[in-house]
Amino acid sequence: MMKTPAKSSEGALVLFSGGQDSTTCLFWAKKHFSSVKALCIEYGQKHSLEVELARKIAEEADVPFQLLDASVIGGLSANSLTDPDIEMDEEKPERSCPNTFVPGRNIFFLTFAAVIARNHGIRNLVTGVSQTDFSGYPDCRDTFIRSLNVSLDLAMEEQFIIYTPLMWLDKKQTWELADRMGVFDLVKEKTLTCYNGIPGQGCMKCPACKLRKEGLDKYLEEKSW
Ligand code: ZN
Repeated sequence: MMKTPAKSSEGALVLFSGGQDSTTCLFWAKKHFSSVKALCIEYGQKHSLEVELARKIAEEADVPFQLLDASVIGGLSANSLTDPDIEMDEEKPERSCPNTFVPGRNIFFLTFAAVIARNHGIRNLVTGVSQTDFSGYPDCRDTFIRSLNVSLDLAMEEQFIIYTPLMWLDKKQTWELADRMGVFDLVKEKTLTCYNGIPGQGCMKCPACKLRKEGLDKYLEEKSW
């Protein structure tokens, strides 16, 4: 991730799903860029509530919201986020990604984002991927993001900058960042991270909820010192 100036006069496009991470990134972007747009991509996920919550949060953030239907992505592979017949991995298998991994998702998402951003004269893209994510999704790693940045530049003869404010943060630090951006309560109450589609604190059972809660507990504990 490149360093951002205190506040850039440029605009940014944020990949936005209405979850904890991308919501934190949306408000991070508002602080660092003079104008921000949110792009929400439907990839065939089971829970359409996600999109409605994302739209509401964007409204509250006063950020223009665009929804792109790319539901074809989910159907291209067997994964438990888009196929109701596949039971979700609760633990990461030893030698592979959990079946919550949607192959190609981030390469598609960032490519769509780059094309749309370019059309608006925007070169700054923001995504909430994190290498510290427990699942070890390959398309969340810094090397992939850097490599795709080069490819997008070459593909469109542009100079995109992909910002990843959460790349090196764990979940506790992501809560801390949300707090610093002044949206701790909004993130806690209104975002949806749960793989079972329950907003706020979620089902408390799926891996995403456990990770979110663990980070929140650690952050609150540290804050109370
Ligand atoms: Zn859950």
